Amino acid sequence: MSFIIGAIVASFSYVVGVRLPQHENWWSARSQCPCCCANLMWYELLPIISFVWQMGRCRHCRSRIAWRYVLFELAGGVMSYAFYALYGLSLQWGLALFIMLFCFIVSVADMTYMIVPNRVLLYIGVPLLLLYSLQQSIYSMIAGAVVAFGLLYTIHLLTDGIGAGDVKLVAILGAFVQIEQLFFMLSIACMFGFCLFVVRRERIIPFAPALCMATLVTLFVDDLQLFTFY
Ligand SMILES: [Zn+2]
Repeated sequence: MSFIIGAIVASFSYVVGVRLPQHENWWSARSQCPCCCANLMWYELLPIISFVWQMGRCRHCRSRIAWRYVLFELAGGVMSYAFYALYGLSLQWGLALFIMLFCFIVSVADMTYMIVPNRVLLYIGVPLLLLYSLQQSIYSMIAGAVVAFGLLYTIHLLTDGIGAGDVKLVAILGAFVQIEQLFFMLSIACMFGFCLFVVRRERIIPFAPALCMATLVTLFVDDLQLFTFY
């Protein structure tokens, strides 16, 4: 069940991430096939199931459905299940899901348009931080945000390698992972970023997905208490 919820969250965040930067009406506009523009019915939008049921093709024009949709939904399902195994059915699990939603929306927007939408940071990121601060040390969160921001802002000023959107994003993510885990998170992000660079073979790569995935991994590993010696 937690897997299905995670897959739905991932599917939803994909839609929001693609539509929001284009100022599209993400809550009411019907989903369409990108190839033939046929409106899709609800049973064609079930995460993973529809993809398998339709053998990875559009029901109307038979064009292939991109693999990244289903990979995304799988990733969401697995993460949701992992967090559920950790927290059970609790408030913390819900919070982890929302952080995942936030990270996924930002990743999709950055991968699709190479931007980190301010509105997502402001309307989803900031309220989440406030909620999160209720059960975490506010000082470690602020310290994480400040150090992360300072570090990436310096890199942003010195090189053109990191965009202004990434700097704003990392301040939020830095608060989530807090100062103690910040450098662990940043090293994983660099590793992911390098993998992306190798896979895409482009000079400019979206760095936000690497930061987001690193944050999710860090939050998970941190709560597993594997790295208590940090
Ligand atoms: Zn189609």
